Amino acid sequence: MVKPLVAGNWKMNGLTADLATVREIAAGADTITRQADMMLCLPATLVAPGAEAAGSSALAIGGQDCHAAVSGAHTGDVSAGMLGDAGASAVIVGHSERRQDHGEDDATVLAKARAALAADLTAIVCVGETEAERRAGDAVARVVSQLNGSLPDEGTAGTMIVAYEPVWAIGTGLTPTLDDVAEMHGAIRAHLVAHFGTGEQMRILYGGSVKPGNAVELMGVAEVNGALVGGASLKAADFLGIADAYRA
Ligand code: PEP
Repeated sequence: MVKPLVAGNWKMNGLTADLATVREIAAGADTITRQADMMLCLPATLVAPGAEAAGSSALAIGGQDCHAAVSGAHTGDVSAGMLGDAGASAVIVGHSERRQDHGEDDATVLAKARAALAADLTAIVCVGETEAERRAGDAVARVVSQLNGSLPDEGTAGTMIVAYEPVWAIGTGLTPTLDDVAEMHGAIRAHLVAHFGTGEQMRILYGGSVKPGNAVELMGVAEVNGALVGGASLKAADFLGIADAYRA
């Protein structure tokens, strides 16, 4: 049995005043028993105060990106060790917005995931096809190729998570059919089992327009072990509503 994870990605949103939302989510994570872990991946500026706001609650804090190097002349970048030092226990790497906006390829994502593992952070590695790739019937092949290129061999079920996020579903309100989600998660699971000793237990999150209204059906698909949530993680009620898909 894989314990699911509901993780939020605040992207480039959030100021000090929004720590009230982190506190609200942390309180909500503790008041209702859910069969899922919960995490918020905050902008780098909010990781330390966010970790403080989450305190000893069931809400973990993560970062959204890290540099592949431990330290050095990389102005404006943040290392995995720095995120850990600030209170993060995980970091997203290879989000499609980084792949698109910053030209990150699989080799870059692999190096970042390795850096995360070396810093004792859980690496949440994102993969996903574009709309054109899905229309061309290449979605599964594209994602498998990203898995081949982006996942470090040393990753384990305890240290690495795959987030399947179809690029065309992120922030659009569109979601794949449940059959398409099942097909992709099945293909990802087969890849993980074939390549990692603990592949059967590795979490595979679905991400892309997850809302309280569609969380139960999406989270009910085989091999979906939780969600990576963008927009709906900015509001405590919505994020907690999604996590409620896993109410005990
Ligand atoms: C994301 O950015 O990881 C994401 C899934 O966004 P949204 O939930 O807003 O589609």
